[in-house]
Amino acid sequence: MPPDTFRCYVVNKDDQGNVSGRIEQRRLEELPDGDVLIRVAYSSLNYKDALAAKGHPGVNKVFPHVPGVDAAGTVAESGVYEFVESDRVLVTGFDMGSNRWGGYAEYVAVPQDWIVPLPAGLTLRESMMLGTAGLTAGMCVHQLVEHEVTPQSGKIVVTGASGGVGSVSVAILAKLGYEVAAVTGKPAAHEYLSGLGAAEILPREEVNDQSGRPLLSKRWAGAVDTVGGPALGTVLRATAHGGCVAACGNAAGAELPLTVYPFILRGVTLAGVDAAFCSIPLRHQTWDRLAGPWKLDCLDAIARFIDLEELPGRFDDILAGKIIGRLAVNVAPETPTTIR
Ligand code: NDP
Repeated sequence: MPPDTFRCYVVNKDDQGNVSGRIEQRRLEELPDGDVLIRVAYSSLNYKDALAAKGHPGVNKVFPHVPGVDAAGTVAESGVYEFVESDRVLVTGFDMGSNRWGGYAEYVAVPQDWIVPLPAGLTLRESMMLGTAGLTAGMCVHQLVEHEVTPQSGKIVVTGASGGVGSVSVAILAKLGYEVAAVTGKPAAHEYLSGLGAAEILPREEVNDQSGRPLLSKRWAGAVDTVGGPALGTVLRATAHGGCVAACGNAAGAELPLTVYPFILRGVTLAGVDAAFCSIPLRHQTWDRLAGPWKLDCLDAIARFIDLEELPGRFDDILAGKIIGRLAVNVAPETPTTIR
C-alpha cells in the first residue's frame, strides 16, 4: 500500500511573484488523476526542469508545482490491464513536470499511454542516466539513419556536445562507427568528449559564421544540433549534398538565419526532433535501441547522480550551460532488496 504522504521538490510562487523551491511532504491525494501510480526511484535534470524550477511560464503556470520531466520506478497501483504492481517502468516528456506534477517526487500518477515498460537491457538507474536527453539523442540519430546518412557519408558534427543531448549523441554516433566532430565552448570538456569517441573537437566559433553567405564549403554529412541560432544556420549551410541536420534545441537562440539554398541546391534535410510528444511507436523503438544495439558502455562517464536536496544549486548551472554530461537524480533509489 502506498503511504498517505510522499516526499517531493515543490516550486511555489508567492503573491509578489517570487518563485522558490523546497522539499516538502505532500498528500498522495494531491496528485493528478492517472491510470497508474508509480513509485519513483530515479529522475534526472534537464534544461526544461530548470526552467520549471524558475517558474518559467512557458513550462508551467500553476503553483505549487513539482518539476521533473523524467521518472523511472515501479508500479505501485494500476487501474489498467496493461500494467500490474511491481512492473518496472519509465516515463519521459508529455506534460510530466511541466503542466502536471513530475518526477522530483516519490510518487507520480500518469496516463497509461505515457508509460514505457523498462526495456530488457536497461536498469532503472541506467534509464535515468539517459532520460529525456538520451531519448532525444536517440531520436536525432534515428533521423540521420532514416535519411540515409551512413558512416561512409562523411563526418557528423554535434553542437552543444558537452551537454546532455550532445554527450549521448556523440557516444551513440561513435559507437555506430560515425566520425564525429564535437563542438563545445568548454575547453575543460575536450578530454571527456574524446573519451566518448569524438574524433575532432571544435570551438563554438567554428559554427558561428557571420559572413552572410547562403552556402558554405561542404564540411559535414550530417549534424545533431542542440543549440539552434547561428550554429544551426552555419551547420545547415555547411552540410553536403543529401545531408541531414537533426535539430532539437535552442540553448543558443531561437532565431534561424538562413536562406532556402541548403534545401534547394544541396537537398539538405532539416529534421525536427520533439522527444516530449513523439509518437508511441518511435518512443518504444528508440528506448529499445538505447537498451540494445545502441547501448552505451560509457554511461558512467556521462552521468552522475545527485540527491533531491542538491537540485537547487544545479538549476542555475544547467541554465548557464555549465554542466558537463548529465545529472541523474536519486529520488527513492533501489536497494539490494528492491532490485529484482
Ligand atoms: P544541456 O544544458 O545539458 O546542454 C546544452 C549545451 O549547449 C551546453 O552544455 C553547452 O555545450 C551548449 N550551450 C549552452 N549555451 C550555449 C550558448 N549560448 N551558445 C552555444 N552553445 C551553448 O541541455 P540538454 O542537452 O539537456 O538540451 C540541449 C537543448 O535541447 C536545450 O535547448 C533543450 O531545451 C533542448 N531539448 C529539446 C528536446 C526536444 O525534444 N526537442 C529534448 C531535450 C532537450 P558546450 O559547452 O559543449 O558548447
